[in-house]
Amino acid sequence: MHELFAVFGNPVHHSKSPLMHNLAFRTLGYPGCYTRWRLEEGAKLRETFLALGLKGINITVPHKEAAFEAADIVEPFAAEVRAVNTLVLENGKLHGYNTDAPGFYRALQRLGEVRSALIVGAGGTARALALYLRSRGIEIDVVNRSAGRLTWFEAEGFVCHTWDGFEAKAHDVVINTTSAGLEDESLPMPKALLDAALDNASYAVDVIYGKETPFLKEAARRGLPRFDGSQMLLQQGIIAFDHFTGHRYGLEEIETAMRPFLNL
Ligand code: NDP
Repeated sequence: MHELFAVFGNPVHHSKSPLMHNLAFRTLGYPGCYTRWRLEEGAKLRETFLALGLKGINITVPHKEAAFEAADIVEPFAAEVRAVNTLVLENGKLHGYNTDAPGFYRALQRLGEVRSALIVGAGGTARALALYLRSRGIEIDVVNRSAGRLTWFEAEGFVCHTWDGFEAKAHDVVINTTSAGLEDESLPMPKALLDAALDNASYAVDVIYGKETPFLKEAARRGLPRFDGSQMLLQQGIIAFDHFTGHRYGLEEIETAMRPFLNL
């Protein structure tokens, strides 16, 4: 009997998760099958999961908070950010995890030593990354276009800036978590501010995947080591797969099985 897995989201047709996980199931010989499910109402997440007879799911936009609510047991980091992207049924209980930020951190470590980061943007992704990276001893500054979303970061004790009067100091890495460049050719902050930030950085990372954003082009022009959101996607998938399959493989082994999806 195969175990069934899925990604829940809305929209979900573009998701690469079925490709990644099915490739790893096949390569590792695990009896699993992974599909996608468009879920309209977050409130129906739990009943849908159980009605479909699933073993585990990933959750993407806009249901990560609903997945947090649906879980019986939530790991501490996912509870802190109130966002769950992986649910696994174990002994009749739904266990919730957030593998986005740990996955990002795994990718970041490949770049080299990182002790300080400038996070550009202040949305949900920025929140998760800021908390997780700080918990790993990385000093964080946050810069955002407008002040509203910075309130949460200020309350959490992060050093925050809007574009107004922002002067970049040296950071090991600049991380773009905004959606600037996703569907247009815009930079995540005014060119002069971004130039100063990148000129004072050793690495650059974008969470957007599927294209070389103007932000990453600026980093490339400076020859900075960098990666895009596909590495984050891959690494969060590896950690989710590890939860799905009950920790029977090593993360490196899963990575070897899963990584080829990047070229498919
Ligand atoms: P949110 O909607 O929560 O936050 C968006 C942030 O981007 C806000 O800070 C907003 O600023 C800023 N922003 C939006 N447009 C612009 C712009 N043109 N110029 C400057 N700032 C802008 O988004 P999420 O955190 O949910 O997602 C952000 C990105 O992360 C998306 O592109 C998404 O695709 C990507 N992502 C990638 C993942 C991966 O696995 N690789 C996983 C999750 C997300 P303001 O407050 O001023 O409006």
